[in-house]
Amino acid sequence: MEHQELWKTVLGEIELQISRPNFLTWFKNSQLVEKNEKEGIALVALPNNFAKEWVKNRYHKIILGSLRNIDGSIKYVNYVVVSHNTPLKPSKTERKQKAPELTDEKSNLPITDLRVDSKTNLNPKYVFDSFVVGSSNELACAAINAVIENVGKKYNPLFIYGGVGLGKTHLLQAAGNAVHLKYEGKVRVLYVTSEKFINDVVWALRNKRAEDMKKKYRDVDMLIIDDIQFIGGKAATELEFFYTFNALYENNKQIIISSDRPPAAIPTLEERLRSRFEGGMIADVAYPDYEMRLAILKTKAQSLNANIDEKTLEYIATKVQKNIREVEGVLNKVLFYQQYKNNKIDQKKLDEIISETSQVSPKNITPAEIIKTVAEFYEISQQELTDRGRKQEIVEPRQVVMYLLREMLKLSYPNIGERLGKRDHTTVIHAYEKISKEINSNSVFNQKILLIKERLFKNT
Ligand code: ADP
Ligand code: MG
Repeated sequence: MEHQELWKTVLGEIELQISRPNFLTWFKNSQLVEKNEKEGIALVALPNNFAKEWVKNRYHKIILGSLRNIDGSIKYVNYVVVSHNTPLKPSKTERKQKAPELTDEKSNLPITDLRVDSKTNLNPKYVFDSFVVGSSNELACAAINAVIENVGKKYNPLFIYGGVGLGKTHLLQAAGNAVHLKYEGKVRVLYVTSEKFINDVVWALRNKRAEDMKKKYRDVDMLIIDDIQFIGGKAATELEFFYTFNALYENNKQIIISSDRPPAAIPTLEERLRSRFEGGMIADVAYPDYEMRLAILKTKAQSLNANIDEKTLEYIATKVQKNIREVEGVLNKVLFYQQYKNNKIDQKKLDEIISETSQVSPKNITPAEIIKTVAEFYEISQQELTDRGRKQEIVEPRQVVMYLLREMLKLSYPNIGERLGKRDHTTVIHAYEKISKEINSNSVFNQKILLIKERLFKNT
């Protein structure tokens, strides 16, 4: 049990450091199978040789770093192949020999999760019971519910977009599971990531098995494609998807699609596909506000039967704003410490966990970058922000700059005032308080600030 928990926490860390598709491909079926306390060796299992070599070569540093971060006693990591069919504990000989054990002959990648339903490809863990509905995902949830009630008839296609870790996959899969259950399997559901779709197309082309491919994707009543943005720009797959889409659409089959951005913002997407998407229903999932982050933390803690005090949850909800995945990551780590280290978590440890889980540390961001990014965001000149002008439309951007300089860089109030048109420090304090309040009470505004922060992290 301990291994499983530890590894889950480590995966939470790794997930934040590599791209989502890579994470899913390489880590979904990984496990921690052994931990030798005395020698400080952790043994990580991958489902086949190919995955083992790849992970070892590419991700060793990240794995070791994350493991050490969480369990200081670990000094080395070794890798071993354990396929789904072999027992968890590999024997000594198994550790040495072991030929590739391919579980997915089409793609040669063992990307099937044990818990995943082999027909629908859905993971039963994603259900609505554990999904918190709030202002940031209300619209998307309403649309999803309408689709569940009227498969293929109401919103078709349904296109859901939003940033990483905001619950798109959870929502899509929960919809699939709900439909599967509600109609007792009579409405055939198929969930795939666009990556899986691409793999299937490539495989079908290579093996001249286009018919199989067609059958698989067109013989369903509800096709769910997750992270469609990866399809854009790959001519053969896009074409195949277009045909699949049309075939389903014309037969009133339901299509649900997710993406990290709206159709208009996928630059490589072919025009006719884009206009098909735009012809359906488009809903976004936004960044969660404080209330929602707290609700999610409480739901999650409760479902884990975790004993964690309210104050700690509130503190996490205040500090961790980036996305839900990160909120969950912090919670998992906190629980891990509490449970396995027999530690009551103190403020210092809590802050440490929060800062190490946060994807980017803001230390290399400069005041000039903040001013530039905010100016670009609001489409005004930097000069306007930093001079003494009092134009109404500059008030908010300037207050945002003041807030960010204080919050991210911890500059003193007088110093901030000096940089922004030699303003008095009380003006800066007022701005800081005003923006802080706004962030906590207005989710649209909060989203705006998060977008600006995201740009800041990207630029540097
Ligand atoms: P995305 O697909 O948008 O990147 P995911 O669906 O993978 O995001 O969500 C990231 C994590 O956050 C998952 O563990 C998911 O269960 C959880 N999560 C996301 N949204 C919610 C929500 N509204 N309520 C509860 N958990 C959520
Ligand atoms: Mg996703």
